[in-house]
Amino acid sequence: SPKIIGLTGGIGSGKTTVARFIEELGFPVYYSDDRAKTIVNDDKDLQIRIKELLGEQSYDKEGLYDRKFVADKVFNNKDLLQKLNEIIHPAVRIDFENWIRKQTKYLVFKETALLFELKLNRQCYKSLLVTAEDNIRIKRVMDRDHKTYREVETIMEKQMPEKDKIKIADCVIYNNTNLEDLKEQTEKIVFSIE
Ligand code: ATP
Repeated sequence: SPKIIGLTGGIGSGKTTVARFIEELGFPVYYSDDRAKTIVNDDKDLQIRIKELLGEQSYDKEGLYDRKFVADKVFNNKDLLQKLNEIIHPAVRIDFENWIRKQTKYLVFKETALLFELKLNRQCYKSLLVTAEDNIRIKRVMDRDHKTYREVETIMEKQMPEKDKIKIADCVIYNNTNLEDLKEQTEKIVFSIE
């Protein structure tokens, strides 16, 4: 079976951009956070259990997951958040296992925002962190999402500090300059993994 490289980075670090470069190089990428969003809508068993935990309003009339309602419910309630994660995470793990079974490359990448926080790096052959200076990340997200400096900073403050992630990561891409440099670093790292 293929080697799994965990790909992560904080808000605005450029991990999705790196993931696209990796796909261009011909390696498959599993987008955990995107898949989780799909699964909560498609998996009926999950839907029942989330409603049991948080209420009928967790899904709208069309049966679509109400992200805002759920976020408000678990905000400042660690216990509920943990229970919600205990429902969603195993479903994503199974989805990933089904996905990886279909892969034929020797290397696959798994993009996960909370790779280190959830200790999912333990299930990977190696971890690849994308990082950049705080100011640069804030500016990029302000441009991308039309958020204020303070709004982005607030999200950032809730995430694991970059210096801790750098210590844990097997490989680090420093995304402080331009896309050309980012692409070059990505190629070097991907082809140096053995
Ligand atoms: P999030 O976790 O918030 O989704 P992310 O880590 O996936 O963020 P990206 O979406 O890849 O980050 O990058 C954030 C923004 O910065 C995007 O708009 C992207 O196009 C831009 N960007 C990333 N790297 C660079 C770079 N080196 N030069 C210029 N723009 C960049």
